[in-house]
Amino acid sequence: GKPVVVIVGRPNVGKSTLFNRLVGKGVAIVEEEPGVTRDRLYREVEWCGREFVLVDTGGVVESPESPLEVAIRRQVEQALEEADLVLFVVDYKTGVTAEDQAIASMLRRTGKPTLLVVNKVDKFDPPPVLSDFYALGLSTEPIPVSAAQGLNVGDLLDAVIDRL
Ligand code: GDP
Ligand code: MG
Repeated sequence: GKPVVVIVGRPNVGKSTLFNRLVGKGVAIVEEEPGVTRDRLYREVEWCGREFVLVDTGGVVESPESPLEVAIRRQVEQALEEADLVLFVVDYKTGVTAEDQAIASMLRRTGKPTLLVVNKVDKFDPPPVLSDFYALGLSTEPIPVSAAQGLNVGDLLDAVIDRL
């Protein structure tokens, strides 16, 4: 089947905003698959003639406390299992948090190819300072974007296609 690209990150970093932006930017938007769970969204995206399935997830909570958080975490783990590429989204405005560190170490354990997406870079002049994000130890260049404003999203899609 088509390669699967899964968006993960803690709540509120802009995963769903990015999902919608990437789906809108691609040329082929296919109906959402029927019967999928509410907190995992699948869409087919085409970019430069390459097709992939993009998956939005509910957000990784470091120490799930409620049954809902436990269920969401399990869904994220399932999505990661089927992922060919992971988009790990972090928030430029808050910087690196302990939760981000926890997710990064989880991703390192999976060994899945990962792109580090630094969202909420709402202006590129002056250029964003991304040095802190190397501390996540993902051996990949952080890619700055603004999902809300659609900045640098084409470059992100290029990087996705490159890694598939
Ligand atoms: P999720 O919980 O990771 O899915 O995050 P959402 O997509 O629901 O976004 C969380 C909040 O961040 C919302 O208030 C968004 O409007 C805001 N947000 C998302 N992307 C950006 C961005 O590029 N810049 C800014 N300033 N805010 C953003
Ligand atoms: Mg969301």
